[in-house]
Amino acid sequence: MPVQGAFFNGQNYLPISDWAHANGLHCAWLKPGDELIATNRVTRLVFDVDSHYVEINGVQVALSFPIAKQNGAALVAQFDLDAAIRPLLYPARYVKPALIRTICLDPGHGGRDTGNRVGWHYEKIYTLALAGELRDQLRKAGFNVILTRTRDTYVELSDRPALANQRGADLFVSLHFNATPTGKDEVEGPQTYCITPVGASSTDAQGEGSNHGPTPANHDEDGSLLLAYQVQKSLVENLGATDRGVRRARFAVLRDARMPAILIEGGYMTNPYESRKIYSSAYRRQMAQAIVKGILAYQKLTLAPPPSVPSATNHRSTKTGSRSSVK
Ligand SMILES: [Zn+2]
Repeated sequence: MPVQGAFFNGQNYLPISDWAHANGLHCAWLKPGDELIATNRVTRLVFDVDSHYVEINGVQVALSFPIAKQNGAALVAQFDLDAAIRPLLYPARYVKPALIRTICLDPGHGGRDTGNRVGWHYEKIYTLALAGELRDQLRKAGFNVILTRTRDTYVELSDRPALANQRGADLFVSLHFNATPTGKDEVEGPQTYCITPVGASSTDAQGEGSNHGPTPANHDEDGSLLLAYQVQKSLVENLGATDRGVRRARFAVLRDARMPAILIEGGYMTNPYESRKIYSSAYRRQMAQAIVKGILAYQKLTLAPPPSVPSATNHRSTKTGSRSSVK
């Protein structure tokens, strides 16, 4: 089937329905002209025109370029098919087989860097408490765990991924809690960040400038995305929390990590309801359990046998959205 492409935002765009059909997905408008759904037996994708997100099996995933519409058809950037959607739909083709032995946990902030402050609650206290709980649970699950800090001490941002690199950690997980100046009663829920793809802007580009080039973390961009997705999905499902999505950022603690690396914002200290949960050890235990489940789901992907695509070439993708491409 010939694919009628288009060019927006300096990017090649494809009609979502053409791409979906070529990949064995059934495509239909949920809201005509506005919301498109693509499904098969195991996958459900929801695309909203003008949105910077796609919903993949119940979890919002940030796109680098918004969904567009032309002549009544919804279109997606080829860039996002390659950098976000295909790795999540076909993880076995994108994940690097690896044994996960050592996990580096990074409790955000510490010492003179308090992180968010809401009343007399300091973010640095709760990130350390969550890290301790998570360390214990990961050790029970058989992993080696190292921490970038174990006390209320100041640690430079660059020293955090550096420690993970030096110690040969297989995963890096930075832990934070969020705050918002506005909409305190409405804004809630966890979000999980991974490195921004090369050439794209971040979901929240704080102080990044226009540097869109590769970072050390980009060499396993897909591993970080898959880890972020599994952890975010587990947080939302196991905590019954509001999904604030998988997002992309070149945070200092992410960009220098040479292993799959994520930053979890576990919820909002400014939300009256969610903050009470964050401050309770019982909820942090549940949150740690959810993170462990997400890591185990990611580990399962890395242990899966490689896909049997005998004629596969080494192209990352083709302009037609061919199914035979692997990384
Ligand atoms: Zn923080």
